[in-house]
Amino acid sequence: MAKEGHPKGLYLLFVTEMAERFSYYGMRAVFTLYMVAALFTMESASEIYGYYTGLVYLTPLLGGYIADRYWGNRRSIIVGGMLMAFGQFLMFLSASFVQPAIKEAEGMIDPTVNNQLAIICMMGGLFFLILGNGFFKPNISTMVGSLYRPDDQRKDSAFTIFYMGINVGATLGPLTCGIFEGDYLNPMRFKWAFLCACIAMLASTLIFYLLKNKYLMDYEGNAIGTKPKLQEKTERQQLTRKEKQHIVVIFIIAAFVIFFWAAYEQAGVSLTYFADQQTDRHIFGWEMPTSYFQSFPAIFVVLLAPFMNLVWEVLRRFGHEPSSVMKQAIGLAFLSIGYMLIAFGVKDLGPNVKVSMLWLTGLYFIHTLGELSLSPIGLSLVSKLSPKHLASLMMGIWFMSTAISWQDN
Ligand code: GLN
Repeated sequence: MAKEGHPKGLYLLFVTEMAERFSYYGMRAVFTLYMVAALFTMESASEIYGYYTGLVYLTPLLGGYIADRYWGNRRSIIVGGMLMAFGQFLMFLSASFVQPAIKEAEGMIDPTVNNQLAIICMMGGLFFLILGNGFFKPNISTMVGSLYRPDDQRKDSAFTIFYMGINVGATLGPLTCGIFEGDYLNPMRFKWAFLCACIAMLASTLIFYLLKNKYLMDYEGNAIGTKPKLQEKTERQQLTRKEKQHIVVIFIIAAFVIFFWAAYEQAGVSLTYFADQQTDRHIFGWEMPTSYFQSFPAIFVVLLAPFMNLVWEVLRRFGHEPSSVMKQAIGLAFLSIGYMLIAFGVKDLGPNVKVSMLWLTGLYFIHTLGELSLSPIGLSLVSKLSPKHLASLMMGIWFMSTAISWQDN
């Protein structure tokens, strides 16, 4: 069963998702900075950001349902990709219309500036990004699983490779879009960041559109992700007892991983605050920007994913590979070890003392070991347990745990 290598389709999905995540994380890296520079107070900006992130991970439920029932994965991905490209384009327009709200000379709010149009474009942009992600995100993940026979042992490794694609994008997006960071005197500069995100999204959709027919097929050579057939639709009515049990397992695991995402997503909030206020960011006389810390987890994923794959592979050879559910628990354990480390680091810290950045780097390193044990394996598990005709909806349930985790923040 354990054939060597992976189907070529995996690499098409890898590249498609890499470009999409480049776009997503690139936009995300500058989004709050943009809002604060010209449009909103920090408090409102954080709130909008929270709603955006929560909703972006909620709509996959809808996108998954529509794909399983009507459209199939392929069409959903293309529609979602186009909606997101349009969303990024509206962000670009927003930052093209924006005017500095502060007068340079006096440093005062300029009452004559009206950024209403920029706000409308931004809200429209967010709407299309949220909707588009719903169609794109669950379906691309489902397709990874469909490349393999349901019981194929390569699935965990396939999802780990796919996850590397996600994080190559998540590393490069912020580094590229971040070049075009503006500020309150020059908020228009952000438009180039959004344009980069828009171009990456168009590229992702185009690559997928052009190559899908050539590479996306199952182990028997049948096209995957096409419209659900009538027969499959009628099968939908009867779930076997075993299928029902599997669905319950997915719900239980999704409920547990909410804790992982809630703590993990602190990277953008409290851990950034920690990086800013309580971490000495000097390396050989150079002060590293606070925001650079946010690319650490993605970089670690890329570096550590092959290592983790090797660990599972070696354990498998010796017959000791943990079960997928066990890997979720290991992921949660790493998460708490990471926080224990940082708690130890700040234990006796006075208010004006800064700790070495090795603490935060260590935290992200340990969290990434947890992430790699939990997130790609979780996708793989959902793929293995889902009844075929509900696979994308079940992926939506998995992502919903991130949406719910935002309600805790
Ligand atoms: N970092 C991963 C991604 O961007 C996982 C996100 C999630 O499941 N919350 O796809």
